[in-house]
Amino acid sequence: MKRIFLLGYPVSHSISPAMQNAALHDLGIDWQYELLATPPNQLRDTVARLRDADCIGANITIPHKQAVMQFLDATSERARQIGAVNTLVKRDGKLIGDNTDVYGVLQTLVDEHVSVRGARVVVLGAGGAARGTVFALGEAGVASIAILNRTPAHAHTLADFTREQFPNVAVTVNNIKALNDAELIINTTSVGMTPHTNASPMPEGISFPRRAIAFDLVYRPLQTRFLKDAERAGAKTISGLGMLVHQGALSLKLWTGRDAPAQMMWNAASNALRTTECETRDA
Ligand code: NAP
Repeated sequence: MKRIFLLGYPVSHSISPAMQNAALHDLGIDWQYELLATPPNQLRDTVARLRDADCIGANITIPHKQAVMQFLDATSERARQIGAVNTLVKRDGKLIGDNTDVYGVLQTLVDEHVSVRGARVVVLGAGGAARGTVFALGEAGVASIAILNRTPAHAHTLADFTREQFPNVAVTVNNIKALNDAELIINTTSVGMTPHTNASPMPEGISFPRRAIAFDLVYRPLQTRFLKDAERAGAKTISGLGMLVHQGALSLKLWTGRDAPAQMMWNAASNALRTTECETRDA
């Protein structure tokens, strides 16, 4: 049996196996997508295991997206530019790192008919997901990115990265006033994820501006406090599930060489999400 693995820690609650196995089945491909819980001190050995003949490739998630790069034979130009890998593909026995998160962000905006060319965008957070997000925004030609983050030093590092990659984009750090005329506000922090579902990533005391669009990268729960507040303010909202599906769809295409059934991946992912949300509530 050929296998594709998801390396992360923790990974036990991931809905990627449900989504990817449904897609493999739909394509008539007899491979299995499996979780491989990988504590940081086991990353080197686990990547070595991926070199076995049964392994087709892998997804990489928190906290290994940057650390894994040192153990690979090569990385795509995109993964090198972003400095993070979320997909491994085997070519002639070599492990190649790639990044499909940027595509996930861009394709979600396309699905939602949101054009960001020339837009003023606020990015909440400055971690790994924020890095992929600002890269996507820069590629899409936004006018400005205001980065708001709890730890200013992390925000400055991300701002430096953004200015270096996209000199034409105006970048500010922790400028809360940018929220006043933002057209799109993207939450890339983990605030709002289970079990802290009632927390908001917005700066304290600031309401969601009605004219902005809210995009939350968090997809568990589907309706985060951030999205609920935005909806209450009359704003358009976008959940993180679309990004999960699209990054997974491009990964699948890299492994199989075939177009992924994105709509059925969406159905499988949202069913799995509903099931795990019920289990969490009932526990
Ligand atoms: P990360 O590298 O650990 O970054 C976490 C970010 O959240 C940092 O900016 C951190 O701020 C901020 N943060 C954490 N706890 C906070 C709190 N209590 N108050 C304020 N800020 C807080 O994680 P990541 O890889 O960027 O992932 C972030 C989120 O994106 C996760 O929920 C992940 O599931 C989601 N994500 C979704 C997709 C998708 O496909 N939809 C893909 C990738 C990631 P500091 O700098 O101050 O620590």
